[in-house]
Formats: sequence, C-alpha cells, structure tokens
Amino acid sequence: MTPLLSQSETGQPQVYGLLWLIRDISEIKRKQQQIEYQANFDSLTRLANRRFALLHIEKKMAHARRTGKYGAVLFIDLDHFKNINDSLGHPVGDKLLIRMGERLNQQVRAEDLIARLGGDEFLVLLDELSDSPEAAAQYASDCAERLLAAIRQPFDIDIHCFHLSASIGIAVFPANQDEATDLIRQSDTAMYHAKAQGRSGISLYTQNMQQETQDKLNLYNDLHQAIRQQAFTLVFQPQMNERGQVTGAEVLCRWMNRGIAVSPDVFIRAAEETRLILPLGQWILTESCRVLKRWRQANQLPDSFRRLAVNISPAQFMDENFEHYVTTQVNSHRLCPAQLELEITESIFLGDKDIIRRKMERLSGLDFSFALDDFGTGYSSLSYLQHLPLHKLKIDRSFVMDIEDNRRPARIVDAIIQMGQNLGMDIIAEGVERDDQRQYLLSHGCREYQGYLFSKPLTEDEFLEFVRHNDASSAH
Ligand code: C2E
Ligand code: CA
Ligand code: CA
Repeated sequence: MTPLLSQSETGQPQVYGLLWLIRDISEIKRKQQQIEYQANFDSLTRLANRRFALLHIEKKMAHARRTGKYGAVLFIDLDHFKNINDSLGHPVGDKLLIRMGERLNQQVRAEDLIARLGGDEFLVLLDELSDSPEAAAQYASDCAERLLAAIRQPFDIDIHCFHLSASIGIAVFPANQDEATDLIRQSDTAMYHAKAQGRSGISLYTQNMQQETQDKLNLYNDLHQAIRQQAFTLVFQPQMNERGQVTGAEVLCRWMNRGIAVSPDVFIRAAEETRLILPLGQWILTESCRVLKRWRQANQLPDSFRRLAVNISPAQFMDENFEHYVTTQVNSHRLCPAQLELEITESIFLGDKDIIRRKMERLSGLDFSFALDDFGTGYSSLSYLQHLPLHKLKIDRSFVMDIEDNRRPARIVDAIIQMGQNLGMDIIAEGVERDDQRQYLLSHGCREYQGYLFSKPLTEDEFLEFVRHNDASSAH
C-alpha cells in the first residue's frame, strides 16, 4: 500500500499523493454512481428501468404479503407507436417517449413507481391501495382511466402534432404470484386482452386469461404448421342476380385443425395478428386463379358468370408485393383481371390514404375491380369513398337481418342502396336468408344477392353441381 502521507527527503510532509488519492476516490465514486444509475434508470426518459422495477416490485410484494394491503401493477403499451418511429424516425419517437414519461409522472402519487420497460412499454406500480383486492382493482382502474386521458391529449413535437392512445393491463397483488416477473407477466397478459378488445382500452387480469393466452399461442403454432403444409381448402358461395342466375362466387377459406373446423373469423384474425396472412393470402389468390382457370377451360360456367370475389385482408393489400403477386397470378393462369373482384373492408383505410388510393387506381387501371365488404359497419367518410375506384358496395349481413318484412322501411339498407346508386356503384347484399329480404332489396333497387336463401358456401364439386342445376332450372 502507498503511504498516504510520506516524508520527503527534505523532511517536508508530502501531500500531493493524498490529493491525488482524494481525487481518485471521488472519481471512482462518481463512476460508481454513474454505473449504478445506468443499471437502474432508463437513459432516455430517466425513469426507472426494468431491472429497478423488478427489484422494487419484489420488495413491495413482500411488504404487501406482510401487511395484507393490496396494490396493483399497470402495464401500459402505446398503440401503433411503431408507425411513428417508422415514418418519422427515431429522434421524433424518442422525444415523444420522454414527454410520455413526464405525462405519466404527473398522474400518479409521488410514492408510486413509474418505469420504462423498453420500447413503448411503461409500468406503473401502485402499492398499499386497500385492504380488499376489489377496492385495489377499482382504484387501479380509475388511475388507468386518468392515464389514458392524459395520453390522449395531443403531443406537440417539432412541427408535428400527435394523437396517441394506449392499452393498459392491470394485475392486483398479492395474488398467485411468486415473483415480480409473474406479476408483470399477468399485467402484460391483461394488456394484450385490452388490445385485442380494440385498442385504447383497459383490462383487469383474471385467471382464465392465462389459459386463453396459451390457447392463442397453440393456435398460432398450429396455423404456422398448417400454412407450411397448405392444410386449407376453399369453398365458394354463389352470388345471384334478380333473375336467379349465378353472376359470381365469393371465395371463402376453410381450415380443419386436429379434426375440428376452426371458424374463419378466428383463424383469419390469428393469421392477421401474426402476419401469416401474407403467405395464406397468396395461397388463396393462387388457388382461386387455378380453380377459375379450370372452370373456364372446361366451360363449366354459365354466361351470366362474371367474376370470382376474393377477400383481401388489409395487411395483404398493404404489402408491397401485392400488386406484383396478383397480376402475376392472373397472367400466369391466363385470366383477365376483370374476372377477379378484390373484396376489401373499410379497415384498410386506416393506413396511409394516398398510398391506398394510388394502389387501387393502378389495379383498377389494369381492370381489377374492388368491392367494399361489410359496408356500413366501418366509419369511412363518404367524401373519401367517392374518390376511390370502388365498383361495388356489399351491404353487410347485419343490415340485411334488419329487414323484417317487405313493407316496413329498413333505413340503413335504403340509405346504402341510394348512396351506392348515386356514386354509380353496383350493390350486392350479403346474408340474404329469406325471400322477403330478397323482395325488399329488389324493390329498393338492389339486384345482386348472396346468402343461405340461395346456397351456403360450397366445395368446388358442389358449386359446379349447383351451377349446372341452376342453369337447367332457370332455362325453363
Ligand atoms: P365475410 O367476407 O363477410 O364473409 C361472409 C361470411 O358470411 C362467410 O362466413 C359466409 O359463410 C357467411 N354467410 C354467407 N351467407 C350467409 C347467410 O345467409 N347467413 C349467415 N348467417 N351467414 C352467411 P365465413 O366463411 O365464416 O367467413 C367469415 C369471415 O372470415 C369473412 O367474412 C371474412 O372476413 C373472413 N374470411 C373468410 N375467408 C377468407 C379469405 O379467404 N380471406 C380473408 N382475408 N378473409 C376471409
Ligand atoms: Ca367478404
Ligand atoms: Ca362481408
């Protein structure tokens, strides 16, 4: 060890070494503090980081077990934040995250912990809320409401003004959690539920959620495998005109998983969530072209048959390869684009409107036609729709169900038909189950129908049989 204070040769005490050492020590302390800070805090927002949050939650859980006072963890995830980073760059995204942290801070008590877990995920820990778990959950929900309201206030950053929303999952403790990670996982699971219910929501963790999450993961896995093995089939639902002739068919996808038919509403949604809809959608398009080519070549379709309608999911339409893929498939099967109708829904228009319009215009220029599916259930503005190359409106099944007899007005159906006519579009009604519905639609100007009144979706053989039979009977 070097002596702190040494005698010099001349006998004078030498203090330089000590000064150096003191400087060294403070330097080391500063470094140590810096390292400690970096280990526990997020350098961007200066909020606690995941590591610190875990340690802190662990302590608070132990405390709650001892005192019997319930607390809650709120898991906050911003909706569509990735779009901001992708379109405006990380510096803008970073500023937004800093401001977000400040805003969250203003909404909670001084003793509550706010942490940034990473990316656009934040966590709030509220401890010692109540002696009852129900009251703690209520307090946490109220707090979550306040946080959401604060997040929804516009953010002005540089020249941009952002409107954000978030989804919040809540888990109350102590309850069935051994470690802090269990508690965070529960709040994360609840957050996913909130997102699945449509964004900008709050959801409280319950025991069944774990099972549902597991079921969902299993479904994703099975779906992955099914796509690799092409384990899907297509069915075809006839579309009819007012004279009872077949004018086309809608292609609908089917999946038998482990011997059980999975509803398309379930597996298409799962495919959309995992982006497996891209390979699945390609398979559906290719297969639809192949089937249509076969029917055409064998002359199996009546003269009244115009086109095959294929459902296109938003992610599939937005994919940069979509135009190339669909045109290649149509060409390589020697079909005309006019023989395909692309069924899109209003949810497509949540994306960049200019890009969508231009894409639709290019495809429409090549002679593809577009039908707007589930029309009336979304909320696109009319002024926007009228500038798009839409050829057909498909009246949603829920409105057709409202037609009770052919005398009483069904206002939404009437309005949709009138609007379609004013915009010069064709109109088809889906979910037509009874003849009085068909009559009502006909008397109000809708001349094309699809529904169980005519036929369920059919396998290829059944469809061709239906067409033959229909042709023979309409000839009489
Ligand atoms: P969608 O596009 O609105 O399809 C119409 C749904 O209504 C089909 O259900 C069809 O079987 C059903 N349907 C037809 N006529 C009637 C009727 O008279 N009464 C009643 N109650 N229902 C009728 P499905 O096949 O279960 O499909 C559900 C949804 O799944 C579709 O709704 C569509 O959003 C999606 N989907 C199905 N196949 C595909 C596909 O190949 N690609 C994509 N992207 N989505 C698909
Ligand atoms: Ca459809
Ligand atoms: Ca529909």
